[in-house]
Amino acid sequence: MVMERNQQPPVQRFRAPGNLPALSSSLLCLTCKQRPSIMLLLPCSHLAVCDQCARTTELCPRCTRPVMCIIRTVIL
Ligand SMILES: [Zn+2]
Ligand SMILES: [Zn+2]
Repeated sequence: MVMERNQQPPVQRFRAPGNLPALSSSLLCLTCKQRPSIMLLLPCSHLAVCDQCARTTELCPRCTRPVMCIIRTVIL
């Protein structure tokens, strides 16, 4: 009886819908916090800014490394 309890893996925590809001908020643009961050900054590879803010972004707002190249990504 006791062993069956211990064998339950914590997989259900990953499937909890409560994780979704945290994920979506982490994908918000770090500069304006209003639009989704869909622009991939290189060389640090952070998804940190939206298409509007990317035009004026010279340093990555997440790690402050200089942005050498910006790639537009499509999530949906
Ligand atoms: Zn923005
Ligand atoms: Zn970065």
